[in-house]
Amino acid sequence: MHDERYFGDAHLRFRKTIRAFAHEVVRPVAQRHDADESFPWDSVGRMKDLGLLGVPWPTALGGLGLDYLSYIIVIHELAKVDASHAITISAHTTLGTSPIVDYGTDVQRETFVPRLAAGRVLGGFGLTEPEAGSDAGGTKTRAVDRGDHYVLNGSKIFITHAGVGEVFIVTARTDPHAHRTRGITTFIVTKDTCDIGAASRVGAGHDATLPKCAGVRSAKKEAKLGWRASDTRELVFQDAVVPKANVLGRVDDGFRQMLNTLDAGRIGLAALALGIAEGALEECVRYTSSRRQFGAPIASFQGVHFAVADMAMEIEAATHLVYHAAWLKQTGRPFKREAAMAKLYASELAMRVTTKAVQLHGGVGCTTGTPVERMMRDAKICEIGEGTSEIQRIVIARQLLGDLVS
Ligand SMILES: Cc1cc2nc3c(=O)[nH]c(=O)nc-3n(C[C@H](O)[C@H](O)[C@H](O)COP(=O)(O)OP(=O)(O)OC[C@H]3O[C@@H](n4cnc5c(N)ncnc54)[C@H](O)[C@@H]3O)c2cc1C
Repeated sequence: MHDERYFGDAHLRFRKTIRAFAHEVVRPVAQRHDADESFPWDSVGRMKDLGLLGVPWPTALGGLGLDYLSYIIVIHELAKVDASHAITISAHTTLGTSPIVDYGTDVQRETFVPRLAAGRVLGGFGLTEPEAGSDAGGTKTRAVDRGDHYVLNGSKIFITHAGVGEVFIVTARTDPHAHRTRGITTFIVTKDTCDIGAASRVGAGHDATLPKCAGVRSAKKEAKLGWRASDTRELVFQDAVVPKANVLGRVDDGFRQMLNTLDAGRIGLAALALGIAEGALEECVRYTSSRRQFGAPIASFQGVHFAVADMAMEIEAATHLVYHAAWLKQTGRPFKREAAMAKLYASELAMRVTTKAVQLHGGVGCTTGTPVERMMRDAKICEIGEGTSEIQRIVIARQLLGDLVS
């Protein structure tokens, strides 16, 4: 891609820093964290020091004060070497922090955003429930008004950072009689990280001064196909006491807020999928240039030329979709359709490229410890998280066909 279409000199300098960090700090630990399914606390401490937990937020709120494209660069570059590190930044920033920046009161912003942006706590987002996945309007978690607070009962499943995080943006039904997507409210809920020891050791992810909500806890960690170093668990509310001061935006208006948050989240996930695809292509170029069969590097065979040429062409197309959607958002233009297209195309591309990458690595590609094997597993999650590929197609079709798409 001709970088100057989207990036200025400051973007390119920033990208160089992130690229160096990804190669020097993240790449060496990616396989180990994937193998033992451990959360990369040491890297989180390093990312905190670099300001990567608050890239797009104003400096007055503790962020780096950079633009949205810079934030997308971080996800893209980290994902080239490890999707789990990239989703940590993405889930924390877009899902866990941006709703407070976008819909919070001044007090909510001042209370939560500096802590999140500085990495003193990790954030997350709780929408999915056992009976409300693609159909998020089916939310069953109930919030009952008790004067100065709400009491929440229910649970959210597959929540990124449910264990390690301390601040969550969650939905609950406040009006049980309202029609489906109405009567849902967004709340900021807090709890202690499940890993206070590790968080304290790296100086990130735990803030004892932040008041926590009684009755909020995480359950057992999911063992997953991909993104294995990312923390995914159920977030449980058992008579959870959430102060009214933690209602985010208007009561009964939470569904719209969550959908808007997911639109932006999809650009981040698209950048993550693009990074996986590009990382896999880089591995293929390296491997096919050194692996010899029939007396020559396998990269000298025409069948391999065609494969890498197709990968590179599709990666170029996905790059434009991703950065175009990011540019639309950054410049305040509508981006819903383009975000869904970027997410759909890049995540299906990541699956195609990584599958082909494993093929080009032969038997080696089927063994654990080979980056492309991990990348193929990581790519699959991109077709499911933050709205499945089918849901992206519905979002795109709805933009074209309006109410004909239910
Ligand atoms: C690793 C990981 C991390 C996650 N992190 C979070 C998080 O932080 N916060 C959060 O809230 N959620 C999170 N999720 C949940 C994720 O958003 C959901 O898994 C996803 O939206 C799909 O919901 P579901 O799993 O209930 O699948 P279902 O909705 O049950 O879908 C099953 C299948 O049916 C298809 N389908 C459903 N409806 C339709 C339709 N109308 N037309 C055509 N096909 C349809 C789907 O596309 C899919 O193929 C995470 C999931 C994973 C795997």
